[in-house]
Amino acid sequence: MKEFFEVLYKKSANEYYIKLSKYLDNKQKKFIITANPETFKIALTDSQLKGAILNKDNDIIPDGIAIVKGAKHFKIEVKERITGCDTAIKLLELANQKKKAIYLFGAKEEVVERLVEVIKKNYSKIKILGFSNGYVEDKDKVFSEIVKLEPDICLVALGIPMQEKLIMKYISKVKKGIYMGVGGTFDVLSGYKKRAPKIFIKLNLEWLYRIVTEPKRLKRFYENNIKFLLSVYREKK
Ligand code: UDP
Repeated sequence: MKEFFEVLYKKSANEYYIKLSKYLDNKQKKFIITANPETFKIALTDSQLKGAILNKDNDIIPDGIAIVKGAKHFKIEVKERITGCDTAIKLLELANQKKKAIYLFGAKEEVVERLVEVIKKNYSKIKILGFSNGYVEDKDKVFSEIVKLEPDICLVALGIPMQEKLIMKYISKVKKGIYMGVGGTFDVLSGYKKRAPKIFIKLNLEWLYRIVTEPKRLKRFYENNIKFLLSVYREKK
């Protein structure tokens, strides 16, 4: 798995956000992949996702604390965690400042509708080109529409790996814009789900908050963090 850790973005979140701002100014096409244990585990057997992670054109950001710790094992210095949720918020801020156009694809209808309202209220200079819930049957139809609309930013909240697979399928047809899979972020940004209090995030204990508030996540946590890190630690440095 070492090769996946090698391609991670290694500098600070703030330095990354400056890059995002430049992408928007330059109308650069960019696919951002949020790396967490699930992403890397799936990529071990999925050659398409593996290809996308190793593709130098894409940005692979260290979303999970297990990723930062895993990198350390290979003596790869990753400055800090850069979460998908924070990156999505930053993209909304930048889009607002620069009056950019976005598309939102994913989550339940009431969630994405509420997020649209939140954006209209708090980021009023963003142009919302369109949105769709993530449970439509024909997701390809939605994506073909997105490609035609040419948003500056497209956030896809369908969960890993569905969101990455759809982006990979269409990114070659895209001329400009930042495309990013954001998992459960719409649920949080819309106010449907609470994010962990800041102190948990600061101490890298967001996972603990999630388990306590959603105990059914415990198995997933074990698989994706404990087992994942054990398998990384077994790999040669
Ligand atoms: N989702 C969706 N369509 C689907 C399956 C999932 O839009 O067919 C959404 C779901 O509503 C949620 C997100 O995808 O908003 C995945 O959230 P989860 O918390 O599982 O992702 P994580 O952030 O843990 O990767």
